[in-house]
Amino acid sequence: MFRIGIDLGGTKIESVLLDENLNVLQQKRIQTPQSDYFKIIDSISSLVLELSENISDFSLGVCTPGAISKQTGLIKNSNTQCLIGKPFKEDLGKKLEKKILIENDANCFAMAESKMGITKDYDLVFGVIMGTGVGGAIVINGKLHSGRTNISGEWGHHTLHRNGNPCYCGKTGCVETYISGPSLEKRWFELTGKSQSMPEILSNLNDEISQKWKCEFLENFGYGLANVIDILDPDVIVLGGGLSNIDFLYTEGKESVYEKVFSDLIETPILKNKLGDSAGVFGAALLN
Ligand SMILES: [Zn+2]
Repeated sequence: MFRIGIDLGGTKIESVLLDENLNVLQQKRIQTPQSDYFKIIDSISSLVLELSENISDFSLGVCTPGAISKQTGLIKNSNTQCLIGKPFKEDLGKKLEKKILIENDANCFAMAESKMGITKDYDLVFGVIMGTGVGGAIVINGKLHSGRTNISGEWGHHTLHRNGNPCYCGKTGCVETYISGPSLEKRWFELTGKSQSMPEILSNLNDEISQKWKCEFLENFGYGLANVIDILDPDVIVLGGGLSNIDFLYTEGKESVYEKVFSDLIETPILKNKLGDSAGVFGAALLN
């Protein structure tokens, strides 16, 4: 069976057509229509019709920012504002007269890396997205583990510090409020008074105050993932998102995790992703 994957991002919509051996037959990218929900539905439909022109049977998966509420079927927590509260899956399904599989970016990322990427040879994979937000997903033997309430792997909103930083989700002290890009930049500003981006901050980490920033980052990263290992004990952890390019996460970061795990023997690999930005669209194609 052929597979079509769509990655719906805030600025671009990517699409891919794979054959049964997961070879890429076609790939296309267009701009996301801004603030118009029905134009987004139309654009995705046209892409799918174009890709499926010469094939009969195919599965269709969509990767979206945010999450689909299991209760209402509506999109929530999306950074593409016009999608929030909309029955996207139902509307797109009606338009194309087809069953649509839909998952968030962390779930698609973990699926893609597990089937086509760096964690292909591991059974139990914990995928982490660290970027503007922090997310995660669990893949077991090539299948996404969603959980009873569909929040499996959402480690970005487990509490790292009680009474800590306020989070948009309504809680305080969530992992995301310490190790997402924006929260690290905010902490940098608190410590130095300088408003700088992550690449600027990372390019010069020599003085005492920047070492303090880095130590805190490593501590929070360490506790966040040590908690995951203590509960899930995955065969491998793979990092994705913009911050996965930070080299010290795979050396000092890994050490920080190992120090905090409840075991004297720990060698869980913490790996950098292989598919980069393409993980979303491949992961979407792999849903079924
Ligand atoms: Zn939160």
